[in-house]
Amino acid sequence: MRNFELYVPTKMIFGEGEIKKLAAEVPSDKKILLLYGGGSIKKNGIYDQVVAALKDHDFIEFSGIEANPEYTTLLKALEIINKEDVGYMLAVGGGSVIDGTKFLASAALYEGDTPWDILSKRIRTFKGLPFGTVLTLPATGSEMNSGAVVSRSETNEKLVMGGPGLFPEFSICDPTVVRSIPKRQLANGLADAFTHVLEQYMTYPADAPLQDRFSESILQTLLEIAPAVMKDPNDYKAASNFMWCCTMALNGYIQKGVPTDWSVHMIAHELTAFYGIDHARTLAIILPSAYTKKFEQKKAKLAQYAERVFNLQSGTMEEKAKKAIEKTEEFYQSLGIQTRLRAYTDAYDGFSQTVAKSLTEHGLTALGEHQDITPEVAAEIVEMAY
Ligand code: NAP
Ligand code: FE
Repeated sequence: MRNFELYVPTKMIFGEGEIKKLAAEVPSDKKILLLYGGGSIKKNGIYDQVVAALKDHDFIEFSGIEANPEYTTLLKALEIINKEDVGYMLAVGGGSVIDGTKFLASAALYEGDTPWDILSKRIRTFKGLPFGTVLTLPATGSEMNSGAVVSRSETNEKLVMGGPGLFPEFSICDPTVVRSIPKRQLANGLADAFTHVLEQYMTYPADAPLQDRFSESILQTLLEIAPAVMKDPNDYKAASNFMWCCTMALNGYIQKGVPTDWSVHMIAHELTAFYGIDHARTLAIILPSAYTKKFEQKKAKLAQYAERVFNLQSGTMEEKAKKAIEKTEEFYQSLGIQTRLRAYTDAYDGFSQTVAKSLTEHGLTALGEHQDITPEVAAEIVEMAY
């Protein structure tokens, strides 16, 4: 096991009916900016619960943060933060609203030329404007981590940022929010969380059996509950375990002491940047090819995953490892997610080279647990995924 430091300061408030508790978590002596997305919270009653809880607070609103939060939209919110002297933010939404809020937390205190630097120059944030969240969509784990992804469609860029100043102070996770989530987003949430675990687990063996079993238990739980989540989002047992799996998949715990990969995400971000494909779907497109390409390095762990998560006991290590990739692809497909890029676009010619160029421009030239996924290898993976 590798050396590590674990710092996860977010207070988690979990369960049905807990949204009202935000009144005690949000400071009452600061101007609050309530941030949300395209309006789903106005239809499903979450907005009303939040506003009721904030009745004694001084708050203003910013809405319209889109899926894959846009830099230009966030700059408008930044103007309001500066003009209105906002001292605290409350993000009510999925990963996009929370990530957008993290960008604002950083940008509000950033003193450089342009806040785009935070993304393009990968500047880490050690102190941000404080914020809390009410999660409306289990998927990203953003509610309990310090990372964010921001898009800039004018330049086809989708870049990551992070730093210890970007943890939410608190997050409220009420599993009843799952009831109003459309099937497509339920599938995305399950696929994103599943892939988050794999990105941290599927490396060369790292002498960390507790971390392995931690990851395997989340994968098994997601496989077990996925059919119930997809069938009936009112099923509280399924919804609550879905929600907690998504948080645990990316709140820092399973990544400690192990190498981690993350190349699937970094390559897949390019598919959203250029084609606008949903984040989770881009992962389902890239992962099978990435694991096939890195088969030799990953086969021991793939075989372990086959045995422990899919209960495949027969065959050689190679056979089990191959089967594990197939089973993973089948899982995505069972959620209604297409796993080939050709299913999403006709405008493919030259795209693998576009990806290689973009990764190079952004300094993402040595991905994966061995840092041996160069832009050329990434291009091959994209070709295989087409
Ligand atoms: P999302 O983009 O936040 O939301 C997707 C859609 O779901 C939106 O249209 C939203 O509508 C709707 N929605 C949310 N909650 C709903 C509810 N309770 N009922 C009905 N509709 C609801 O989806 P996401 O998958 O959570 O976030 C994706 C983003 O997070 C991507 O940009 C991805 O790259 C990023 N990401 C971040 C991390 C991280 O650690 N920070 C990790 C992985 C991915 P409204 O807009 O109307 O609310
Ligand atoms: Fe993700």
